[in-house]
Amino acid sequence: MRLTILGSGTNVHPTRAASGYLVRTDHTILLDFGPRTLANLLKTGVNRHRITHILFSHYHADHFSDFITYFFDAMIFTKYQGGKRPPLTVIGPRGTKRLFRALFATLPGFTHAPFAVHFKEVADQAFAIGNTTVIPRTVTHTQNLHCLGYRIEYGGKALAYSGDSQYCDSLVRLCGDVDLAVLDCSFPASRPNPVHLHAGQCGAVAREAGVGQLVLSHLYPITDRYNVREQAGESFGGRIVVGRDLMAIKL
Ligand SMILES: [Zn+2]
Ligand SMILES: [Zn+2]
Repeated sequence: MRLTILGSGTNVHPTRAASGYLVRTDHTILLDFGPRTLANLLKTGVNRHRITHILFSHYHADHFSDFITYFFDAMIFTKYQGGKRPPLTVIGPRGTKRLFRALFATLPGFTHAPFAVHFKEVADQAFAIGNTTVIPRTVTHTQNLHCLGYRIEYGGKALAYSGDSQYCDSLVRLCGDVDLAVLDCSFPASRPNPVHLHAGQCGAVAREAGVGQLVLSHLYPITDRYNVREQAGESFGGRIVVGRDLMAIKL
């Protein structure tokens, strides 16, 4: 399994794209698709038309907005440029079908794509994509919003992605004994925020869950001014990496 960080920042950030991760197993999968991550996807050299599954954690714009650009491009490619692509499955939390129904009914041409598109709402039940096991888990982010973290298992390795999350038991369980956890490290420990983890909490989650390696991601601009690696390291003794765009990690 290979992870490439397409975006390690937030919605508007001077140097980092917003949330997006490319995961390669027996399938080519995206976790979230925030602004500027599509540009980074192109830089990876991966054929964007081979992506078969996009898994959304939630629909704050910083996790979602490049989907519109991506899908419009896929339509042009298949309709006018003679391109072919496999069916696309969009997976996400409660509200996924309602959102995409409205979007596709409103944006010109979106309902006439010449390839199959499937929408699937998931909660806390494992499912398979080929030989890849995906375990979504509801995490706590903002009030009244269904947000998911994802655990992906393939070839004897496990990866966890928090999506956006506060510190919660569910997140610790999601990350239980994974080889690599990518956590929402929006803020430094000294500038906590009620709906996101801070660096110290990322370290605590990693320790409690017994993760192998911790990647700190989803950094707000202010967070780059602090040593979040050191802050997370106060609780967690394992390897800690501050994520950056286009960083690739093999599991
Ligand atoms: Zn969010
Ligand atoms: Zn976010």
